[in-house]
Amino acid sequence: MRIGYKFTLILIVVVATAMMISAFFSSTAISNAFNSYFQHNASMRLEQIASSIGEHYKKNGWNGVENIFMSRGRGRGGFGMGQQFADRMIVVNQEGQVVADTFKQEVAQSYEAQSDAESIPILMNGEKVGTLIATTRKGQLEENFVDSIKAAHIKAGIFATIVVLVMGIYLSRRISKPLVELSEAARSIASRELSHRVPIRTNDEIGEVGKAFNQMAESLESNEVLRKNLIADVAHELRTPLSILRGNLELLEEDVIQPSPEVFASLHEESIRISRLVEDLQSLSHADAGELKFDRNIEDLSQVVKNAATELAREAAKKNIEIDVQATESISILMDRYRIGQVLYNLMSNAIRYTEQGQVQVTVTNMPNCAKVEVCDHGPGIEKEHLPFIFDRFYRVEKSRNRMRGGSGLGLAIAKSFVEAHDGEIFVESEIGQGSKFIFTLPKK
Ligand code: ADP
Repeated sequence: MRIGYKFTLILIVVVATAMMISAFFSSTAISNAFNSYFQHNASMRLEQIASSIGEHYKKNGWNGVENIFMSRGRGRGGFGMGQQFADRMIVVNQEGQVVADTFKQEVAQSYEAQSDAESIPILMNGEKVGTLIATTRKGQLEENFVDSIKAAHIKAGIFATIVVLVMGIYLSRRISKPLVELSEAARSIASRELSHRVPIRTNDEIGEVGKAFNQMAESLESNEVLRKNLIADVAHELRTPLSILRGNLELLEEDVIQPSPEVFASLHEESIRISRLVEDLQSLSHADAGELKFDRNIEDLSQVVKNAATELAREAAKKNIEIDVQATESISILMDRYRIGQVLYNLMSNAIRYTEQGQVQVTVTNMPNCAKVEVCDHGPGIEKEHLPFIFDRFYRVEKSRNRMRGGSGLGLAIAKSFVEAHDGEIFVESEIGQGSKFIFTLPKK
């Protein structure tokens, strides 16, 4: 059954139940109120009639007592009003004989008591001389009254059901429409139409589901773009070293070039480039999947920095660059020394690679909650527009030139991923012509 029908059906059942409960309680309450009102009025009227009969008896005895019914019945007030309440009235004397009867049936006979009749004593000078017996018309009147209330309830019920039906259809359309749109959108996403979005019309829970769906679709779309870019980038990165390898091997095969130490060195360099790229990609994919194993121990960060500087000293010396390490204090940090060593290696080798000459400064600072490492160079600097993307995979400021320098475009992405896996932060400050400063922090735990 469609949700719209279900919703309308539920509405009708709820309204019908509510109407029935309200009809039951209101009829009972109205009927009770009617009864007590009727009883009160009837008693008052009958007492007035009984006192009129008492007065008549005082003057004339029982003779002509039925005229009181007649005259009062035709005249104003008193008995005329009484007739609204009494169906039949009988006057009985002290001996139990009927002396007057509005139905004129039992006159001069002895009265047989009826259970539903009301008895009012007829008094003369405070003494009982007879009884006025009235069978009330309450039953009939009440029935009419309750029937008219029931009819009103039935009419109200039919009217309410029609209103609920119309409102239910309208509301259920309003509720089910966004759900239908959501399911259509979900099917489109499943068939890889990732640009599909749902319109957000309301600010309620359904609107929230729509917003969450759109966010999910957006992140799927951007992941898809990233995935495509990554494949394109990997293919592009592999193409150059592989074609150099292939070209050189073909030339060797065809004896166009002779095997020489230079040729082998070039082949070796390209194969190193490929394996470095593959290793970097593997590290990143492991980090993404959360599978990268970190062998964490309490280590002295200053010592790890000094070791990385020593490792790169020879490469720096080749370019006449000096690595100046400012790390006097030993700072104990829980870390994987190999991974943090790799972060330092990537930052320092970039600093050496992009600096022509001079100094690369590495400073370790002990802060209250963390340790801070700054790798500062006096290279060309990075333009502001590139800074937000510098830690992205395969992002290079000057693509061809940087590739010639041997970078894979993954060094900073790996550094960021390793630092963040240690709950640290990494960022860059750079100005064109002034050099660059890469800073990362590691928390003390
Ligand atoms: P690569 O392996 O190409 O160096 P990275 O991820 O390490 O890749 O760096 C990304 C890009 O950031 C580099 O291609 C380069 O353009 C820029 N870059 C990184 N470090 C520096 C630096 N110290 N000075 C200037 N540019 C830098």
